[in-house]
Amino acid sequence: MVLKAPQDSSIIPTQWYNIIPDLPENLPPPILPNGQVAGPEILEEIFPRELVRQEVSSERYIKIPDEILQNYAQAGRPTPLIRARNLEIALKTSARIFFKYEGVLPAGSHKFNTAVAQAYYNMREGVDRLCTETGAGQWGSALSLAGSLFGIKIRVYMVRASYNQKPLRRILMETYGAEVHPSPSSLTRVGRKYLEENPNHPGSLGIAISEAIEDVLSSNGTAKYSLGSVLNHVLLHQTVIGMEALKQLESIGIGVEEVSHVVGCVGGGSNFAGLSYPFIQYKLSGRANTVFIAVEPKAVPSMTMGEYKYDYGDSAGLTPMLKMHTLGHDYVPPPIHAGGLRYHGVAPTLSVLVKNGIVNPIAYSQREVFEAGVLFARTQGIVPAPESAHAVKAVIDIARRYTKGYEKPVILFNLSGHGLLDLAGYSEYLNGRLQDT
Ligand SMILES: *Cc1c(COP(=O)(O)O)cnc(C)c1O
Repeated sequence: MVLKAPQDSSIIPTQWYNIIPDLPENLPPPILPNGQVAGPEILEEIFPRELVRQEVSSERYIKIPDEILQNYAQAGRPTPLIRARNLEIALKTSARIFFKYEGVLPAGSHKFNTAVAQAYYNMREGVDRLCTETGAGQWGSALSLAGSLFGIKIRVYMVRASYNQKPLRRILMETYGAEVHPSPSSLTRVGRKYLEENPNHPGSLGIAISEAIEDVLSSNGTAKYSLGSVLNHVLLHQTVIGMEALKQLESIGIGVEEVSHVVGCVGGGSNFAGLSYPFIQYKLSGRANTVFIAVEPKAVPSMTMGEYKYDYGDSAGLTPMLKMHTLGHDYVPPPIHAGGLRYHGVAPTLSVLVKNGIVNPIAYSQREVFEAGVLFARTQGIVPAPESAHAVKAVIDIARRYTKGYEKPVILFNLSGHGLLDLAGYSEYLNGRLQDT
C-alpha cells in the first residue's frame, strides 16, 4: 500500500503579499473627521506598533515569523485545494471548478489566519487583553483560540441578535477561554446609550466595534483592539490562502494564466482578498487575464449600491474614517443568516480595485444562495457557511455558461468556512420559511 504524503508544510508561504505597492492608484489614507491624515501615532492608541507598521507598509512582501508559521501548520495549513468534480457533473459543465477549503481550520473559517498573527504581535508587545466585536461568531471564536495560544485575555462584544440566536458560537468562544458580552452591553457608554433607546436592541457590527474601541480607550493602555476584516494588515495575513493555491495549482500543472475566474464572498473583504490578491498581482502586471468576482448579499449591497467615500468603520464614529464603498456607518443591515457579510463598508484596497474595474462585484438574494449551498452539500459533502454559499452561487452561474467540451476554464473559489454551526438557516430554507431578502 502506498501511503499518501503527509500534509506538506513546505507549501505554506513564508511571506505575506502586500498589494498596496501594486495598486493602480495610491491608496487614500485613513483620516480624522477634521480631514487630517490619521497617522501611525493615532492608530497605535488601539493597535500594537507592528500591526500599524504593516497597516501602512509599502513593502511588497512581509516575512511571516516562525511562531506564526508553526501555528499555521498546527491548525492544518496548507488547507486543501479540492476539485469539485461532483459539482461539475451535476452542473453538466466543462469548466474545472477548484476550491480552497478554509473550513478545516479549528474555528471553522479563514479568520484564524489573521487571528493568530494579531494575537502573536500583541503578545510580543506585552498586551494583556484584546477587545473585539463579532457578528455570527466566526471572528470571535478564531480570536478566542488565538488568545489562548498566546496567553492573552479576549473580551468579545457579540451582536445581541446573534448572541441570542447562536448560543453554540458563544459556547465555542467560552470553551477557548474568552469572555463574551451581548452588544449593546451595559459595560460601555455607547452600549448604555443604545440600550436606553431600546432595551431589546438587536445590535449591529458597527455598534459592537464602537463598544470594543471605547473599552480599549478607557483601559489605560492595558488593552488593545483587534479587527477581523477590512484593514490592510488583516487582508495581508489572509494572503497565505492565495499563495498556497498558486503553488497547489502549479503542482498539478495549472499555471496562473490558465485560471479564468477567481471568486469569493465579501463581508469586509478579507477572505476574498486572501485568495485573490496573489492572483490579482499577475493581472496587474499583465501576466494573466483572470476575471475576479466579489459576491455580496443583496441585503447589504456595499460594493454594488454603496458610495465610494470616506466613512467611519463603526456606528458611533470612534474610528478614523476610511475611503471605501459604504452604505453609511449608521446602516443597520437586515438580519440575514450570513452574519459575517452584514457590514456597511468594505476594505479600502478592495474598493480601489472595484473602482478600477479589476474586481467585479455581484449581489445575490438569500434564497438562491441557500439553494446553491444545498446543491454543494449534496454533491461535495461540505455544508458551506451561509457567507461562503454566496461564492458557491456565483461559481455555479459562471460554470453553467460552459457546456462545450472543448472549453475547460479553471474557476477557483474560496470556501471560506463550513456551515455546521449555521444549520438553523439551512433548516429554514428546507422548510420553505427562509425570507428572501
Ligand atoms: C467573516 C466571514 C466572512 C466575511 O468576512 P470577510 O472579511 O469578507 O472574509 C466570510 N466567510 C466566513 C466563513 C466568515 O467567517
